[in-house]
Amino acid sequence: MLDWQQACQVVTDANSILLVTHRNPDGDGIGSQIGLYHALKAAGKQVLMHNLDGVPRIYHFLDGAEKVTSGRNFPPAEDVDLMISLDCGNRHRLGLPDDLFDHLPLLNIDHHASNIGFGTINLLDPHACATGALVLELIRRLDLPVSAASANGLYVAIMTDTGSFRHANTTAAVFRMTAELVEAGAKPWPIAMSVYESNVPGRLQLLSDCLNTMEVRDGGRSAWLHVHQGMYGRTGTDMEDTEGFVEYARSIQDIEVAIFIRPGNDGSWKASLRSKSSIDIGHLAESLGGGGHRFAAGCTLHGKLPDILEQMQKAVSALFD
Ligand code: 5GP
Ligand code: MN
Repeated sequence: MLDWQQACQVVTDANSILLVTHRNPDGDGIGSQIGLYHALKAAGKQVLMHNLDGVPRIYHFLDGAEKVTSGRNFPPAEDVDLMISLDCGNRHRLGLPDDLFDHLPLLNIDHHASNIGFGTINLLDPHACATGALVLELIRRLDLPVSAASANGLYVAIMTDTGSFRHANTTAAVFRMTAELVEAGAKPWPIAMSVYESNVPGRLQLLSDCLNTMEVRDGGRSAWLHVHQGMYGRTGTDMEDTEGFVEYARSIQDIEVAIFIRPGNDGSWKASLRSKSSIDIGHLAESLGGGGHRFAAGCTLHGKLPDILEQMQKAVSALFD
């Protein structure tokens, strides 16, 4: 579903545009938002950005991140004539009240295979490495400039969703697109410094606690990590500081499935699932009420940690039967 013509038309016609992304936003959600924000501003649009959960600290360095509003104080819907959803597989995951923006046309830009096309107009490509890549294409088709500020956002989107150009979605086209962004002013080294080398010490203490929970199961095919609330308290950290922890479980030789579970912000638990084999971990996440991609997915769970671990361990073991 790639309605480029209609997408360009609806953006051209709009004066005031609201950009939103999913809850617990990641680099692709935020980078796409910032990348598109600057291009639309250059076109003379009024642009608002709102995420229920704001902008994670590691992305605060992006020019425009300070313009993203957060929480339940939603922008006045009567001031908006187009909403654009970025990197979000289903409408519910935006965390917006159902009725607030219902009357607005919705442009749905995403690369999750599970996205059913909940927009009025949809730009969906499950083969795109990142939503940021679709945003770059939209900016080009609209004939808008890619400023350095825009390029930095889109670079972050592609860098984070390809696992720093390591995952299976890293193609020659990705490198070409990334080179274009660097030519437009994206700065790989300062971006890498901000995203990967600006840890607070507590995050490493939390990682140490987390690695101590490591369990390898299913005859060496699955690896498990978790964090509990007491660990956040001891190290002065929160869920944001767990970004990337699941990759340690994934990095173990011969592991096929990696699972990391930690407390969310609202009493629930958040699971990150990764696959390194033919196992489609997105299906498992969907069956647990979440979603994602074949190799990277997630879901929210409720209950006590031992029960959740048991439930998930059964589900994962069944994948190997
Ligand atoms: P992560 O583990 O990095 O939080 O998420 C990995 C992938 O799974 C991302 O593409 C993300 O969009 C998706 N994902 C994570 N959590 C959820 C969830 O609760 N619901 C859905 N539908 N997708 C999720
Ligand atoms: Mn994405």
